[in-house]
Amino acid sequence: MSNILDILLNPQFKAEVFIEYLSHFRRGGLRPESKDSFTKDLLILKNKTSFSISEIDHIIKKYNIIDIKQDDLDLIMLNIQKDALKKSEKCWHPLASTSACSKDKNGHVQFIHAHTIQNNRILNLICEDSHVYGYSLNISETKPIKISRNDASTFSCFCNTHDKIFDPIENSDYKNTSEQNFLFAYRAFIASSVPKLAQYYSLDIDRQGILDTEKNKEIFNGAIINSQYDIVTTEVFELDSFYPVSACSSFDLDFDFEGNPISHSEDRMECIYVTLFPTKKKTYFLLSYLTQDFKLYSQLGSQLKKRNNLKSDISVLVLAHVENIFYQPCYYKAVIQSQETSIDKLMQQTQFDFVIHNEEDKKSKSISLTPKDYLSNKYNVGLFR
Ligand SMILES: [Zn+2]
Repeated sequence: MSNILDILLNPQFKAEVFIEYLSHFRRGGLRPESKDSFTKDLLILKNKTSFSISEIDHIIKKYNIIDIKQDDLDLIMLNIQKDALKKSEKCWHPLASTSACSKDKNGHVQFIHAHTIQNNRILNLICEDSHVYGYSLNISETKPIKISRNDASTFSCFCNTHDKIFDPIENSDYKNTSEQNFLFAYRAFIASSVPKLAQYYSLDIDRQGILDTEKNKEIFNGAIINSQYDIVTTEVFELDSFYPVSACSSFDLDFDFEGNPISHSEDRMECIYVTLFPTKKKTYFLLSYLTQDFKLYSQLGSQLKKRNNLKSDISVLVLAHVENIFYQPCYYKAVIQSQETSIDKLMQQTQFDFVIHNEEDKKSKSISLTPKDYLSNKYNVGLFR
């Protein structure tokens, strides 16, 4: 079978979206002029409970379908990803509306390319010639690459007016106030929610991720409107040196540092929000969670304090889960690059979940394949050396 049909017949992929891009770029034998007819024939096949090899052969011959090379597949995936992010542009502020958001001269809401890691106070500290190393959403490379600090970690997720809510962390030194800690956690929430929601553009996957994001967003929104910053609890850890690395993201944890399982509720995935950033003389690690999730996550902070293994513990937690991470170029080459294989292995350990559906109560349950001791750092990765 052609590798294109492997993708198009996979129930996790939205065939119509992939066909649109394959036809547009004229890859795999698809052409714009045959797109509609091919889509119709393919969906008839895909919606059948079973189909034969001869039915597939018929489609391959009828449309001259050929295998697609990895480079071409990367090009397709990349364009889908770019458009998915473009289509997900919106102002996330709870008071966003066509009248409240800033607009361009044509009256359209004007999004700014907001940095999820501060450009002025953090990226400028770690950049060299205005460049940093990090994972890019705009190329298919899976390793960190050199990118302009202006492109690092930006999403169009606020208008100019509403991006100003981040002023207390953009324009003031970090003073560990509850408002600053709240804003760092909120930004970590946004930084991981935008790409997470964008993947639904091309993937037909369990929609629990959308519901989880909506429910967490509601909690953040209420707090922003009422300036109720104590809905977030933050534990602050300081390293007594400047390390030129910065990260921000949110994710859920299946196990704590001692390998105890963390059992999540069924109606809202509880997440932690992490931010790592240097100042001129120190490096801060903020571990935040919603105060209502205290029972689930408060032991993480106490374990970090008790274990006395802070550099290793922060490294493994961040490197296992965070792709929104940036390094000073020379620091990346000297310290991180040689650890790429270990970092890949560590990340893979946390990426395999599967979902089972209970037909009776219509609920789905996510089962994680993450090993319970993965935070013991057996691959010995380190961000601070
Ligand atoms: Zn706005």
